[in-house]
Amino acid sequence: MHGDAEARSLVSKIYALSAALLALGIFALDVLSPFQGAVAVLYTTVVVLVGRTQSRELVLFAAVFCAVLAFAGYCVSHWSAPMGSPAMRLAVSLVALLVTTVLFLRQLAEGAERERSDARYRTIFSAAGFPIWESDWSGAYRLFGALQGSDIEDGMVDMAFGSARVRNANHAAARLFGLADRAELIGGTIGEFATAAAFESLSRIYSGLLDGAESIEEETRFVTRAGEVIDVLLQVSLPPDHGGWKRVLVMALDVTERNRAQARLAQSQAELTHMSRVTTLGQLAASIAHEVNQPLSAIITYARSGKRWLEREAPSAAEVSDCLDHITSNGTRAADVIARIRELARKADPKREGIALPPLVEETAALLRRDFQAKGVALDVVLAPGLPELLGDRVQLQQVLMNLMLNAEQAMGPLAPERRALAVRASPDGQGGVTVEIADCGTGIEGDPEALFRPFFTTKGEGMGMGLAICRSIAEQHGGTLTAANNAQGGATFRLRLPARIEMEIVPA
Ligand code: ADP
Repeated sequence: MHGDAEARSLVSKIYALSAALLALGIFALDVLSPFQGAVAVLYTTVVVLVGRTQSRELVLFAAVFCAVLAFAGYCVSHWSAPMGSPAMRLAVSLVALLVTTVLFLRQLAEGAERERSDARYRTIFSAAGFPIWESDWSGAYRLFGALQGSDIEDGMVDMAFGSARVRNANHAAARLFGLADRAELIGGTIGEFATAAAFESLSRIYSGLLDGAESIEEETRFVTRAGEVIDVLLQVSLPPDHGGWKRVLVMALDVTERNRAQARLAQSQAELTHMSRVTTLGQLAASIAHEVNQPLSAIITYARSGKRWLEREAPSAAEVSDCLDHITSNGTRAADVIARIRELARKADPKREGIALPPLVEETAALLRRDFQAKGVALDVVLAPGLPELLGDRVQLQQVLMNLMLNAEQAMGPLAPERRALAVRASPDGQGGVTVEIADCGTGIEGDPEALFRPFFTTKGEGMGMGLAICRSIAEQHGGTLTAANNAQGGATFRLRLPARIEMEIVPA
């Protein structure tokens, strides 16, 4: 750097000296030559020469010096006839000198501003706490220039990536790839750090740029020199003067930790949802036992009766066969109930499947019916015809319905058993989806209904306060909403709105 400055100062001195000699030469020509031309106009070349030094002060000094010489030349040669064409020639020369000087000074000012802005850019580039690098993708541009984004093939991406060179990079970029110094990155390619996902992202970035985008965001994966896989959010931009992708600016954000935290959060949420479901099932133990017991009792009864038919003097094959049919159908019923309970108790990743709402509501009501009977709750289920199919996880939606219905039952606890009534109504929501309303005539909601959905909000001694928070998050994961409000005539209504499968299929998972 120091050497550069010295060389520049030497060159400036040479320019200044040559300009001074040129000025003196022009002066001699002006004074000594017999020409009647505007020799002084040549002084403008002195200003041009001094301009090469890039020094504003020298340009101003040269302009004044040349003006003095021009005036002195005029005085020496034409003092005796001051007004006339020589004076005009002097004036023209001085104006030319002035115009040249002004133009040069302006150019110098613009150059200085450009340099300042470049310096600012360089400072931001290297001081930025996040990784930035500037790449030369002109090879890719030449390869794809004539194509549309959709025409790019895999092999071409490999070739284009191989030809891309890093022109500049900051320290953070070097650290991102596990390098000790940015010099290791500059001049090379980042191909060594690319994973299959990075190639796919790059293909999308090339396509986007070819289709006219100026800036593209992509989340992708790299592998550091130490072999650690990192998730990176890339922002690729083309500056206005990219010159055929010669300068492509890439900014990166390491999102590995964020993604890990999100995955951990999703896992805790899934575990909590599962735990809450199992807790609810625990509350329904008596009801479930009854559901299974009923067919089992029937099986025993039919088996005894079949045996009696066999022990008769004239056994009836038709009657025995009838008993066996009943045994089979009751056995299947018990197996179905157990399968449904196992499904609810199962811990599995959420599914995305078509769901018919009516059987889901019916099944949930069946699970709770015994409990309701024991507590005197009159259940009224009304399902409007032609409800659209939903999309999502059947078990999770059943969990929501079960929770809302059990909460309603508990809210009616203080009422006399004969007054306890619960209405479950499913109808089209007028926007293509469905609304399920669960209306009770219990205590109603005290204060802001939104508070009920906050985690750990509970008014029950043994309550956990997670049920409604989980229900709302399930509703939202299904693209829907869950709200609560008090009824005018007492009690509360919980409203679950869910979009139809068709609506959901437009939105990616
Ligand atoms: P928990 O049942 O463990 O208390 P929830 O999140 O399911 O947790 O419910 C939170 C609170 O919301 C309940 O404690 C209760 O005060 C209130 N709540 C829920 N459902 C109803 C309802 N149908 N009527 C009135 N209050 C309700």
